[in-house]
Amino acid sequence: MILHDLYKILRADLSEPDARYVLRKRGGIEAVELITAVDKILDSSVVKLILEDVALAKQGKPLSRIYNEREFWGLDFMLSDATLDPRQDTETLIEAVLARYKDNPPDRILDLGTGSGCILIALLSEFKDAHGVGVDLSAEAVKAARNNAHINSVEDRSEFICSSWGDEVVGEFDLIVSNPPYISNQIIPNLDENVRKFDPILALDGGDDGLQAYKEIFLQLPSLLKKGGYAFLEIGYDQAESVMRLSRESRFNPLHVHLDSQGMPRVVENLFE
Ligand code: GLN
Repeated sequence: MILHDLYKILRADLSEPDARYVLRKRGGIEAVELITAVDKILDSSVVKLILEDVALAKQGKPLSRIYNEREFWGLDFMLSDATLDPRQDTETLIEAVLARYKDNPPDRILDLGTGSGCILIALLSEFKDAHGVGVDLSAEAVKAARNNAHINSVEDRSEFICSSWGDEVVGEFDLIVSNPPYISNQIIPNLDENVRKFDPILALDGGDDGLQAYKEIFLQLPSLLKKGGYAFLEIGYDQAESVMRLSRESRFNPLHVHLDSQGMPRVVENLFE
């Protein structure tokens, strides 16, 4: 098969960027070849592999899960079955932190439920002198995060440990971030198939009311965060009021709710006074 014909088949099911991504990832074919080498005859084994990927994608498997990688904050992350697929919405958290700390960068950052490590690693890529600790209940996620720190050259400034929230964490932090599981277990059966089938349940399940993780995290925050420090928590679109209430009950000041690119509440910024 020639490149032109394969590309046509791909475009029937994939967007232009996705079709180009598949060609590059599986076939080592660069986008420029779609102009300069459309008549190139492709190896039949490559065509077969690419068509298998497209068949999986057609059945709903995200390309990020087919190739086990995802870009976040312009950085590359390897995924594993134990890590949530980083969402663009979570970049709202990074932007909110950068806005808060632009004049006084944090020294020590803690990421609770780090998964692929994307939040902590993105922050370390911005704050060049900061050190970070990422924790996850899943040993496999910890391994994936460590590998991602290496890929993104922040392994000297980061440490990843297996821990239930802050249980195994020593010391105090200037900044704490988290994208905890926040989907009510009543709703999980109705989630989009791509989420339900490919994201780990541990990274999604927020208990009966979706707020279980925030309750546990707020109990621990006072002993982990320095006075005057901030905790940035990602939330579900309808959880701002509840999480702000939990914040106040733990004597935090929920200063701000940051909206995502869809204009939905996405991050609560809490000051520890
Ligand atoms: N944002 C994810 C979703 O909507 C949920 C991630 C989480 O529970 N932290 O599928």
